[in-house]
Amino acid sequence: MTEYRGRIAPTPTGYLHLGHARTFHIAQQRAQENNGTLVFRNEDLDKSRCKKEFIEASIKDLKDCGISWNEGPDIGGPFAPYNQSERHTWHLEVWTKLLETGLIYPCSKSRKDVQNALNAPHGKQQEQIFPLEFRPPKVTAQNYDSPGNTNWRFRVPDFLELSFIDENLGSQTFTSLKDFGDFLVWRKDGFPSYELAVVADDHAMKITEVVRGEDLLLSTARQILIYNALGWNPPTFYHCRLVKDDEGNRLAKRNKSLSIRSLINSKEWFEAKKGLFS
Ligand code: GLU
Repeated sequence: MTEYRGRIAPTPTGYLHLGHARTFHIAQQRAQENNGTLVFRNEDLDKSRCKKEFIEASIKDLKDCGISWNEGPDIGGPFAPYNQSERHTWHLEVWTKLLETGLIYPCSKSRKDVQNALNAPHGKQQEQIFPLEFRPPKVTAQNYDSPGNTNWRFRVPDFLELSFIDENLGSQTFTSLKDFGDFLVWRKDGFPSYELAVVADDHAMKITEVVRGEDLLLSTARQILIYNALGWNPPTFYHCRLVKDDEGNRLAKRNKSLSIRSLINSKEWFEAKKGLFS
């Protein structure tokens, strides 16, 4: 049987909150139940928003709430995280592989162009679908051997139903071009998009199950398209219900009052822990 390999993958743009504590606790539990390995991957690609202070804080806060991982780049030493920003060569290799599939294209349309096109009557979609009239002819990508300073998008198939069994939420189906459109795989600032980097790294790190918040369900559908394009087997997925605040809003890093560090060891923390971790 394949060894279970899970990961916790925070983005260091703020302090972790109760929702992270819950998701990562479940990730740890799933790894333990399966006698598996848990990896910590620091998703620090966005240079302008990620801060060292938040990486250090996330390591401390997770340890303080009893979450630990058992693999890192320093084999045998304290388990430091894998840093996504140090994996650029691999991400570029995956971009090249995608280029070879003919499924990605350079896109010079600005956010404003997209917004203007979407203001034309297009129906009311939850997710804004990248306008089809902005897609270049399929051959456009052939002249490139590096991404350069432009955005790159994945050309999604026309109305393909993508189904998977979520280990927590059950059967899920999303349809490309209906639920989501052509999505970014590379950004003009020279870095991979979240969708490309996460697939590249989950595959390279041999992750067998991805535990993440249910706000990323649509991303999972996009990522399955990338796995399929590359001929890679996707992991299984376990999407956790989101923790909401008293007003029913999902937690955000900017809401400092619910951060792990502001709550830990308080009376509220013990109350919250009972409900969240049971
Ligand atoms: N780094 C992402 C985040 O913090 C989550 C990545 C994932 O679980 O795929 O939202």
